[in-house]
Amino acid sequence: MSNNPYSWLEESLETIHRADWYRSVQTISGGSGAVINLEEKEVINFASNDYLGLAGDARLKIAAINAIQELGTGSTGSRLLTGHRQLHRELESAIASLKQTEDAIVFSSGYLANIGTISALVGKRDLILSDQYNHSSLKNGAVMSGACVMDYPHNDVEALKNQLIQQRQNYRRCLIITDSVFSMDGDLCPLPEILDIAEEFNSMVLVDEAHGTGVLGKNGAGGVEHLGCTGRQLIQMGTLSKAVGSLGGYVAGNNTLVDFLRNRAPSWIYTTALSPADTAAALAAIEIIKNEPQRRIQLWKNVEYLQELIQKHLPNLKILPSESPILCIHLVSASDALNVGKYLKEAGIFAPAIRPPTVPTSRIRITLMAVHERVHIEKLVEALHNI
Ligand SMILES: *Cc1c(COP(=O)(O)O)cnc(C)c1O
Repeated sequence: MSNNPYSWLEESLETIHRADWYRSVQTISGGSGAVINLEEKEVINFASNDYLGLAGDARLKIAAINAIQELGTGSTGSRLLTGHRQLHRELESAIASLKQTEDAIVFSSGYLANIGTISALVGKRDLILSDQYNHSSLKNGAVMSGACVMDYPHNDVEALKNQLIQQRQNYRRCLIITDSVFSMDGDLCPLPEILDIAEEFNSMVLVDEAHGTGVLGKNGAGGVEHLGCTGRQLIQMGTLSKAVGSLGGYVAGNNTLVDFLRNRAPSWIYTTALSPADTAAALAAIEIIKNEPQRRIQLWKNVEYLQELIQKHLPNLKILPSESPILCIHLVSASDALNVGKYLKEAGIFAPAIRPPTVPTSRIRITLMAVHERVHIEKLVEALHNI
């Protein structure tokens, strides 16, 4: 027996390599946007979550710089001790107003919002029903909570109902968790049906709007608005790091929920408050999302244009069902996906391969932004055509 307790690390990495699951970072220099500099090469960016192009917006930068000048770089403590500023409260009010909820609470990231909220809401005597394609932060939040966790097949409302019929009475509380836009597929959850079933079985619902906020809905409030569920009782979480162009996470809901989370969510109570710069940038972005619907309209025009070009020029491409700016091309193996990703990069297109264990099947994931021009989308289709 080896007497090095760490030797398994190397063996484990070798296994990851053999499966073509190995991953490493790539350096981007310069700013964000439709065209970026990736490892010294200029590429058109189809890999960003910056759907509205706000991460490079001058108004967010100025808001962040002013906040640093006035308040400093760090928030110096948790929200309940020295970390709370008026700016945090303004951001929470702006989010609540966008979401049409009574209140909101800002966390230091979306991941922390999910793990803190789920573990505050349910425990050992409770049940979590979770879509099988949910984001890692929902899944790990569920595990952390100590509740009994059962996955249901992706978007399968019948299966969800059957699980509730069989299991609900065995538990104290029940929480259903789902992405609104599935981050690695681009399809939407059947939220109205999920909420109906949840009501019938006295269950709570948490919906993750990471890829919905700023993107979906007439006012950019997200999937909840788009699917006609504004005002219904549920727990809406999201991130400030995607369409909002900053960093941080939030939960929006009624006063009681938010007050409860301020008292019980460990990843809010025991972590340092969001920095002044991130908070100010997010606040500026929420105002832009409210006041400039043309960005969202342009984003959706770009989605339509890409779909139109694919239908016309690449009818044999296997595209996963999508109702969002996330479009995925299905590929049989991880190595195929890697090869296509590599080829696209050489052709000046950044659209990464997404492989297991992140997703069950390998794919190339394309995300569109409001700041893409038609010629960018045409170049993508041309490169795909040449494969
Ligand atoms: C990105 C993401 C998160 C995490 O948000 P961060 O602010 O980046 O920590 C949570 N849920 C989903 C669905 C995401 O895509």
